[in-house]
Amino acid sequence: MNWTVDPKRRSFLTSDESASSTPFPIQNLPWGVFRRPDGRTTCGVAIGEYVLDVGRLEAAGLLPDLQAPQPLFSGDSLNAFASQGPTAWRAVRERLSELLDADEPRLRDDAALRREAIFAQADITMRLPFAIGDYTDFYSSKEHATNVGTMFRGKDNALQPNWLYLPVAYHGRASSVVLSGTPVRRPHGQTRPDSEAPPQFGPSRAVDFELEMGAFVGTGNDLGHPVPIDEAESHLFGMVIVNDWSARDIQRWEYVPLGPFLAKNFATSISPWVVTFDALEPFRCAGPSQDPEPLPYLKSPRPDSTFDIELQVAIQTSSLPEPYTLCRSNFRYLYWSLAQQVAHHTVTGCNLRPGDLLASGTISGTTPDSFGSMLELAWKGERPIELPDGSTRTMLQDGDTVIMTAACRSDAYQIGFGEVRGTIVGN
Ligand code: MN
Repeated sequence: MNWTVDPKRRSFLTSDESASSTPFPIQNLPWGVFRRPDGRTTCGVAIGEYVLDVGRLEAAGLLPDLQAPQPLFSGDSLNAFASQGPTAWRAVRERLSELLDADEPRLRDDAALRREAIFAQADITMRLPFAIGDYTDFYSSKEHATNVGTMFRGKDNALQPNWLYLPVAYHGRASSVVLSGTPVRRPHGQTRPDSEAPPQFGPSRAVDFELEMGAFVGTGNDLGHPVPIDEAESHLFGMVIVNDWSARDIQRWEYVPLGPFLAKNFATSISPWVVTFDALEPFRCAGPSQDPEPLPYLKSPRPDSTFDIELQVAIQTSSLPEPYTLCRSNFRYLYWSLAQQVAHHTVTGCNLRPGDLLASGTISGTTPDSFGSMLELAWKGERPIELPDGSTRTMLQDGDTVIMTAACRSDAYQIGFGEVRGTIVGN
């Protein structure tokens, strides 16, 4: 176990009380990109209610020598740092963890440097953490795939014959990946509500959320060189929460035979803080058992191939006094692991690059209160979701805000992801 996640450790920036309740204790240190109060953009980590400007520490000569072109941290993305690989990630994490320790005076007692490098989260503006070159969306939840398949093809043909043999995915649209808080415009498109009549054009009447997690690629692989599964995790830098907004009526008409296109390309929202695998390590766990046994190139090198991350989706409408929880799920329910996704994605020789985003697919559990989309929660409209004020939903309405949160919890602390939120606006 790495010492940076020792539950006894405290930062001088978190009180004893907040250390167990904040999503961002010293054991977490998630990475993000933000605009400082003076307008400069920089890379940093979250700590309690603050952010630490790592670009400023780099300029002050306080970081380990990574033997890489500098500056790595004062730009507007994490791509350069992420491309340095796990040894560099770990070295910087350990140094930051040291500098933030309650017993370490170097930063704690340097008032001038603290003014320059530490800001309240309320005083900064988060930006997208990466320049995202490519975005791939998997379909790795057996429960979600079974639910959707049952609704559209019937129980006997719910899972396609390939599903248990390979992690199904499609190439998504990177340009419309947006940061939490960005409003999402209701898309227009073709739909065919009546299969006897020609298709119609207009605003989607079935805008939905999809509860997903996303992994950012750190070090890429060269074209023509697949990533073996036992090296796959070392290519991933960290994780965020993903809301893969979907227009179900557009999707239903367009998806045969090549899969989703316009139904998914209008917006994908992500949470701003990228939680590293060093922080997630204490929450490793086994995924579901896999039957049939995967082909050798997809065979997990370790049984604890996934992470226990609690997920929650809430909705805030104009008539609700507070957000209402729609579902609770867990990242560990996914059938295909991150390592299997990377190994499969690259097995043809396809090259992943720093900053590429691999989303998991909707994460549903076995019980109806754990389904990760409105399509499933309301069972394609047959079981409308009742909200506390008596109103109902089968899909999202204009003005609805969807709020997704994620956290790993232990007795001593939590490793939080913060939230991803977005409001549907009409047009
Ligand atoms: Mn999706």
